[in-house]
Amino acid sequence: MTHRRTLTLAAAALALVSASPARPADDAARLVAAMLGETPLIDDLRELTDRIGGRATGSEANQRSVDWSVAKFGEAGVEARAEPFEMPELWLETSASAVIEGAGVRFAPRVAAMPFSADTPEGGASAPLVDAGTGTAEDLARLGDTAGGAFALISMPILEDIPGLFTEYIEASGIEQRAFAAGVAGLVYMGSRPGNQLYRHNASYGIDNEHPMVVMSRDAATRALRLMATGAELTLTLDLELETGGAYTSHNVIGEIRGSELPDEFVVIGAHLDSWDIGTGALDNGCNVALVIDVARQIKRLGLEPKRTIRFALWNGEEQGLLGSWAYNQAHKDELDGHVMAASFDTGSGRVRGFVANGRLAEMRQVLDASLEPVAGLGPFEYSDAAYYGTDHFDFVLEGVAGIMADQESANYGPNYHARPDTFDKVDQEQLKLNSAIAAALVWGYANAEIGWQRLDRAGVQKIIDGGLAEHMKAFRVMQYWEDGSRGRTD
Ligand SMILES: [Zn+2]
Repeated sequence: MTHRRTLTLAAAALALVSASPARPADDAARLVAAMLGETPLIDDLRELTDRIGGRATGSEANQRSVDWSVAKFGEAGVEARAEPFEMPELWLETSASAVIEGAGVRFAPRVAAMPFSADTPEGGASAPLVDAGTGTAEDLARLGDTAGGAFALISMPILEDIPGLFTEYIEASGIEQRAFAAGVAGLVYMGSRPGNQLYRHNASYGIDNEHPMVVMSRDAATRALRLMATGAELTLTLDLELETGGAYTSHNVIGEIRGSELPDEFVVIGAHLDSWDIGTGALDNGCNVALVIDVARQIKRLGLEPKRTIRFALWNGEEQGLLGSWAYNQAHKDELDGHVMAASFDTGSGRVRGFVANGRLAEMRQVLDASLEPVAGLGPFEYSDAAYYGTDHFDFVLEGVAGIMADQESANYGPNYHARPDTFDKVDQEQLKLNSAIAAALVWGYANAEIGWQRLDRAGVQKIIDGGLAEHMKAFRVMQYWEDGSRGRTD
């Protein structure tokens, strides 16, 4: 069905092209048709995921992905540069293993270290394993003194979809605060994914975390719980070998097509280049990296000249806390008044069903509608005015720039998120192709439209934060940076 839609829309778009040249609407139709035609979109994704593979920021594979992206833009005739920025701390997992023993039982569950987990001494760290329920205040109170110095096992519901993912993230912060306050030695999250998949879930404390923290395969975690429920006293030995270090240099890759009339005004479309290293980062977020590159390539190939400058941003350090896009906002401070919009695509290859406007919907609705007109056949599109942390539009929002996040169907994103099965074969190639046409229409529309809004001042950003973003910012521990003026607009 999706395939037929592709062909029909391409035919309609081509018919428009031959009618009359050189009107912006015709350019948009040509661009959409080009996106839906033969392009290297899928080949690029295959290279990035199968050849380069998982590319955690700070790894050698990540550096190769930077070089690869610069070369891809270059081959397309798009000017591109790798913009350096400082990552605060190196963290990569070398190996992770565990043994549970006690009451005549001994087994070795599979575990994955959570980002910024502390390592363990040579030979591992051993401590009693305790059932900490779902990590509520009552659960930890029930443990009393036994929580002190123990590894706390946290039960997790099965993850079904993206809302479930948000719940995991938001609840982690409270669980970790309560557990550390109770004096636990470390945290063990029961794997939430079907099929016993391991994944790398962010620790809410980020680089400030000082405890060993792991995800344990679901079957092993439930086995341990059953043993404890029938009176077994268990000891967990965790052996986490990490590659850690101080600050280092990473790079965002920024492709650019300069505006013909308003070169100092900017429209940004971005996706993060980095991934975690379990799996090959296909849904998160290789497919949208390939999408961003292909939009740039087709605009260039058709010789289209946008009025505003378009920047095609491949962010790094996203998984460590949106650090690349934050760095871009700092490095380009002098240009931010000219940024009219920054969009993020970061939810795999599920259908783009609309856009999240981060508090700017009333101002942008007309431009959104007009921009999406050439891809109306792929709609209907719905808009939300909610504001999210989540991905790389966030620091633009904090700087008062209108931020847009593609709102995509969950599809298979949640179960594969940051996990081993996030590989090329999970990507819905036809839908990705359709999404690339939607992305191209969006960007082209914004690059050429009459724009009636401006960058917000700090008070304006504060209103968006008060309107609901505050909850996310607290859960992800970034509110402090806004309040102390180190992140976001200060005037
Ligand atoms: Zn992502």
